[in-house]
Amino acid sequence: MAKFVTNKDALIEKKLKLAVKARAELENAHKDQIQTLSNFAAKLAVSSKGQDVALDNLLAKFRQALSKGVSFDDLAPLINTITQSLKNQESVNAENHQKLSTSISDAGRQLQKLKGIPDDTRRKLRNLLDHELNEVNVSYEFLPVFEKLIGIYQKVLAVKTKVKEAHDSTTSQKPELASELLTLANEITFEDDVAKEVIDIKTTLSQSAEVDVLLDCAIAIIQIIANSIARERQSAQGFLVSLNQTLEELHASILSTTNSTKHMSAELSGLNKQIETKIKLLNEQTQKATSISDLKELVDGELKLLRQDLVKREQLEQKDKADLLESFDQINSRINVLETKVNTYKKRLSEQQFKSLLDGLTKLPNRAAFDDRFSQEFHMFEQHDNETTLVVIDVDFFKSINDQYGHSAGDKTLQVIARALKKAIRKSDFIARYGGEEFVLLMPGMALQHAQPPLEKIRNTIKAIPFKFKDKQVQITVSLGATQFKKGDTPLAAFDRADDALYEAKNSGRDRLCIRK
Ligand code: GH3
Ligand code: MG
Ligand code: MG
Repeated sequence: MAKFVTNKDALIEKKLKLAVKARAELENAHKDQIQTLSNFAAKLAVSSKGQDVALDNLLAKFRQALSKGVSFDDLAPLINTITQSLKNQESVNAENHQKLSTSISDAGRQLQKLKGIPDDTRRKLRNLLDHELNEVNVSYEFLPVFEKLIGIYQKVLAVKTKVKEAHDSTTSQKPELASELLTLANEITFEDDVAKEVIDIKTTLSQSAEVDVLLDCAIAIIQIIANSIARERQSAQGFLVSLNQTLEELHASILSTTNSTKHMSAELSGLNKQIETKIKLLNEQTQKATSISDLKELVDGELKLLRQDLVKREQLEQKDKADLLESFDQINSRINVLETKVNTYKKRLSEQQFKSLLDGLTKLPNRAAFDDRFSQEFHMFEQHDNETTLVVIDVDFFKSINDQYGHSAGDKTLQVIARALKKAIRKSDFIARYGGEEFVLLMPGMALQHAQPPLEKIRNTIKAIPFKFKDKQVQITVSLGATQFKKGDTPLAAFDRADDALYEAKNSGRDRLCIRK
């Protein structure tokens, strides 16, 4: 009996120890989680500081709550409010931007209506306002990506908690989240330094699915986007404000031209009236004159005066013309400044703008996306000898589809082919619309010697699509050229090889796959 009690005591003690240990682990997990969240909040706060006071306050409150050790459940509503506030901030910004744009085009319309602007200038102004400005709109395409990122971040965080609590490191969600994040990263592109950062993040993501790595990557991407938004917004707002100022100046200068013209024409018509009266008077007086010498004297004197008036009139007219020309010169040079500003701004925007990497027609990654991925995979090949097959696919006689059934039938065909290609490849493959009716396929981890069967399958899949135009059954085929990365290659050399193979496929009858080792 005593022994039993002792055993029971030992058991209780063991259970107690286990419970204490579990509790400590749970607490650690929470501490960890809160630390991560705290970093996240701090980074978000830095990225968005000064743009929205309410958001700044919310983030401050969030960090304060974190430092007090409030539980994750209590924090969730606050996170939602912050996410909401971020979204609101974007829509407020979009609205402000819209308002500013509208007031600029209104100012332009008013300017257009003013009299006294030469046709050429008017045309230039209209072009500037109607076409150029439209292209200078800030893109808000990043918003959905931003939202998805925050979603992924929350999911990773949840996985992290589960891993700790369940002592289970085989959580199946991790690789999935990593690939979700990688897909997302593939949807965005930036220029220069930031582009390099994004590539580094992608490389990291493709090598590891560790929870902490995922969290870091998610934060890094969020930060890059937030920074880019802030930068883009700053330059957009700054540009629009300065554009508004220039338009105001232009407005003022045109007004003053019209005013001085009005003033001038008042003076001129006064002078004309004076001349008219004098001629009338002279007429009357000549009728009254009694002798030739009287008449001669009268006419001489009056003519002298008249000549003076006429010279004055000429001078006035000259000055009027010169003034007008000068102010038109001014207006023209202002408009030129405006044009230069728009161009510089557009250039800057295209340099830093968040660009979509999806092709609009087919929704496949576009050429920029391919270039990005191509250099990334090539890098992987150089570093890790990762065998990679590269395929160029071109639709056969596509021009005749356009010619016979119209351009929109051609567009639809491209969409159907794109969808079929996307469906036919492996999850790890990458397909892009390279341009026109040409697609490129990257198959990482696939040696050229094994690529033939899947590529033939793709060719046959496209061939079997039952296209029907104008009630006529039409068969569409593709030609494929394939190669693989090899030692001493450059991306360009590899691409040229695939292109050569495609050329061979076209020349030897189309609807076939050719291979270049
Ligand atoms: P080949 O077998 O030698 O490749 O012949 P092809 O007619 O396919 O090649 P070609 O390069 O002569 O013509 C390609 C055509 O694709 C020309 C162009 O009008 C059409 N095309 C390119 N992009 C699009 C697009 O987005 N939509 C439509 N409808 N047609 C497009
Ligand atoms: Mg073609
Ligand atoms: Mg082609």
